[in-house]
Amino acid sequence: MTRLPPWLQATALQSSAQFREGRLPHALILLGQRGLGKAAFADWLARLVLCRAPEPEGACGTCKSCLLLAADSHPDYYPVAVPADKTMISVEQIRSLISELQESAHQSGWRVASISDLHAMNTNAFNALLKTLEEPGSNTLILMQATQLSRIPATIRSRCQLLKFSPPPLETARDWLQQETGADPESLARLLTATEGAPLAAADWLAAGKDQQLAEFETQLQALEAGAVSPLALAADWKEQTEDVVHWLSLQVSRTIRRQMTEGHEEAGAVPLPRLFALSEQLLEARRLLQRRANANPQSLLESLLIPWPSKIVKSAGNRQ
Ligand SMILES: [Zn+2]
Repeated sequence: MTRLPPWLQATALQSSAQFREGRLPHALILLGQRGLGKAAFADWLARLVLCRAPEPEGACGTCKSCLLLAADSHPDYYPVAVPADKTMISVEQIRSLISELQESAHQSGWRVASISDLHAMNTNAFNALLKTLEEPGSNTLILMQATQLSRIPATIRSRCQLLKFSPPPLETARDWLQQETGADPESLARLLTATEGAPLAAADWLAAGKDQQLAEFETQLQALEAGAVSPLALAADWKEQTEDVVHWLSLQVSRTIRRQMTEGHEEAGAVPLPRLFALSEQLLEARRLLQRRANANPQSLLESLLIPWPSKIVKSAGNRQ
């Protein structure tokens, strides 16, 4: 069987029991931030449902159905994703999925559709999908992954069961990452902070060499807060990685806010909460601008954030776990 990370195993056993008892919903939205394992889970469940001799822990891995899936050629498995050169799933992709689902199953009797970015659809595509969700046909499972529920119409949501994915406890995430990557504890803590506790995202960041970059951000921001480097020089240095920097700065501020609020007091000389909330808002706006590619000058955007940057964010954020 495919091994799922430890934080997904309880949900997996639950779905497996539902399937055995004929209680698995015909349409499931797997909801959660990136990097928690939604794709791995969807894959695992699709294999289980299509397998001819499933076990409680998952597909057998050796039956004809499992072998066809492993070879990416199962005729009753329909993956749908955003094409590599596009940003959205098209209505044509959904229409072709529907016409496939209308045919009878070729193999074991079950058909599984797996849509990997449900939030990346326009209204026409959602409307086409809605018809299938209303009359899915027997022995059909539609798996959908989404990072944000707010971008999915209520008509779609109301016809699906939600399966929510949350970050695992920090210790679980750290142990798993340590085992998978062998990285040192300090890197792991830094990566998990930057990915908001999503272990698979942290592993991707590590593989992409972003760990070193995060360590540099931290050192440079400390230098800024200590007055050892000018905000203008730092903005010039960071302009090629504005999106990563703004994301990381937001996390530092959120952590500082959380820490001050949970500890219920402000350390002497700490940045006042209203100032932190204003800063958090400013960073959110900067992220929006960057996502919309609306800011032609990342350097001046960074300058506007770094010139008034308060001291003691990194120092007081307790960002070393
Ligand atoms: Zn099998």
